[in-house]
Amino acid sequence: MRSIRSHVLLRRALFPLPILGLVVACAAQPIQQSLQAQAATETPPAPLAVVAPQQERSFAQWLQEFRAEALAAGISASLFDRTFAGMTPDPKIIEADRSQPEFNRPVWEYLESALSAQRVASGRRLLREHADLLQRIEQRYGVDRHTLVAIWGMESNFGQIMGSRSVIRSLATLAHEGRRPEFARSQLIAALRILEQGDVRAERMQGSWAGAMGQTQFIPTTFQDYAVDFDGDGRRDIWDSSADALASAAHYLRSSGWRQGERWGHEVELPAAFDFSLADPEVRKSAGEWRALGVRGIPANAPDDAAALLLPAGHRGPAFLVYGNFRSVLRYNNSTSYGLGVNLLAERLQGGGVIRAGWPRDDRPLSRTERIELQERLASLGLNPGSADSIIGANTRRAIRAYQQRLGWPADGYPTHQLLQRLRQEPPERAAAR
Ligand code: CA
Repeated sequence: MRSIRSHVLLRRALFPLPILGLVVACAAQPIQQSLQAQAATETPPAPLAVVAPQQERSFAQWLQEFRAEALAAGISASLFDRTFAGMTPDPKIIEADRSQPEFNRPVWEYLESALSAQRVASGRRLLREHADLLQRIEQRYGVDRHTLVAIWGMESNFGQIMGSRSVIRSLATLAHEGRRPEFARSQLIAALRILEQGDVRAERMQGSWAGAMGQTQFIPTTFQDYAVDFDGDGRRDIWDSSADALASAAHYLRSSGWRQGERWGHEVELPAAFDFSLADPEVRKSAGEWRALGVRGIPANAPDDAAALLLPAGHRGPAFLVYGNFRSVLRYNNSTSYGLGVNLLAERLQGGGVIRAGWPRDDRPLSRTERIELQERLASLGLNPGSADSIIGANTRRAIRAYQQRLGWPADGYPTHQLLQRLRQEPPERAAAR
C-alpha cells in the first residue's frame, strides 16, 4: 500500500501541473470547457506538454517571439500591435488552467441541471420565437431544430452566459505559461485571423477562460472551420446574432456526420444475464444484433446504423443504445454526459426525454484521488490501466473489466467504491510484485 501511495506522490512531484485532458486537439475537438469534470472520466488524456521553456520567458519576451510567428502566418503588424498594446497576462486564467476538480458531479445531478424545468421552458419559448429562423436552418443544414436549441441551452444558456474574458488575452496567457502552449498558440493565431477578417471586434471577442466563444462556445479554430453568416450582414457573429450562432452549430453538426430524421438513441432494458463487457463505445452492433442478445425496448424505427450500448452509471443505472447522431454531438464536446444532456433536452423540448430506470444514487463517483489510486492498484495487478492520470479512458475501462471478470462481477468497466475497496484487499505481496 505504501509503495502505491509513494508512487502517486512521485508522479505528482514529477508532474506538478494538472494533467487533465480538457481540450483534446484531435479531430473531435470538444469546444466547451465548463464540462471538464464530466470529460475527465471519458476523454482520453492529452499528451503532456513540456511547458518549462515557456515559463522561463517573461510575457514580454514571449510576445516578441510570438509576434514574429504571427506575422509569418500572415497576421498584419498593425492588427497585431493594436491588439496586444499594453496587454498583461491574466493570472486568473492560469489559476483556472491549473485547478483540478477533486470531485465530479454524478451524471444524474449533471442531467438534473442540464434538463431543469427552467431551461426546458426557455427552450420551448425560443423554439416558438425563432420558428421561422429554425425552419430555414433546418432546410439549409438538415439538422433538427430541437437539438440545435438544446445545444444553445447547454453551451451558453441560450446566449445568456458566453464568458466575459478577452479571448486574445486568455489565449496569450495560456500560450505563454499554460499547460498546453502549442494548442493555445494555434488557437491564438486563429483568433487573430478572425479579427483580421472583421467578423468581430477585439473588445467583443469574449469567451471562457479557455477561449470558447459566443453563443455556441466555439474555440477559434472551430469558428474558422464552421461559423457561418446566416443573417447576411457579411460577418460571422456568434456573439450577437442568434441566427449566425444557431446556423453555425447546425453547420458543425452537419459536418460531424449528422443525419436528418434519425434518432440519437433511446433507453433500453437489458436481460438478467447479460455480458456487460459489451457496454463500451468501441463495441458497435446493429439493432438486430442487440435484440438477439436480449436487449429490449428497441423501437421499430431504430436507425439502420451501428449502435453502442451506454451505461452512464454502470450496470446498476439506466442503459441506452446510441447511434450516429449521438456521436455527432460528441464531436461538439467529447463527453457522454454532455451527449445525453443535449439529446435528452432536445426530447424534453418535445415533451419526452424522461429516463425510466433509476440511478444508483447511493453510488457516488470516485474522487480524483480515488481514481488515481484505482489506476495504481490495477497497474500493480498487471492489468495495464494506462497512466495514473485519474481519467477513466479506454485502457482503464479495459483493466477494470479484466479485474471484474477475475472476481466474477458484472464487467461493466465502471469504477465504484466497492471495486476500490476490493482492490485494497488484494494481498500486498501481489501489489509489491510489479
Ligand atoms: Ca452575420
